Amino acid sequence: MDCLFCKILQKEIPAGIIYEDDQVIAFNDINPQAPFHALVIPRRHIATLNDISTQDREVVGHMVMVAARLAEEQGFATEGYRTVLNCNNHGGQTVYHIHLHILGGKAMGWPPY
Ligand code: 5GP
Repeated sequence: MDCLFCKILQKEIPAGIIYEDDQVIAFNDINPQAPFHALVIPRRHIATLNDISTQDREVVGHMVMVAARLAEEQGFATEGYRTVLNCNNHGGQTVYHIHLHILGGKAMGWPPY
């Protein structure tokens, strides 16, 4: 499958991996938009949020828990941080393997435009 994030999972393309277990990996974003910007992805290839099914409930929940754990480890959990899961064109998705962005280390604005 020609998927960039599957290649990172297979270690065919290098990435700054900061966490991995049997369900997910997390790595630093190549183009960080905050002092800390990482992505949590499932090992199973799921193209978009629209493609998740009941069998993915556990892994999607686990992605969120890993994001919260990384924020705690990074020391910005109390101050706050942003998690984002972009879906398709209008959502700004550019890589079609779901990924939860974790952005932290600075105050962020809202709305996101
Ligand atoms: P999206 O726009 O799909 O929500 O987010 C894709 C993210 O993947 C972007 O923030 C982009 O910087 C990041 N990205 C794209 N290619 C690579 C890569 O080869 N390595 C890493 N570490 N991140 C990437």
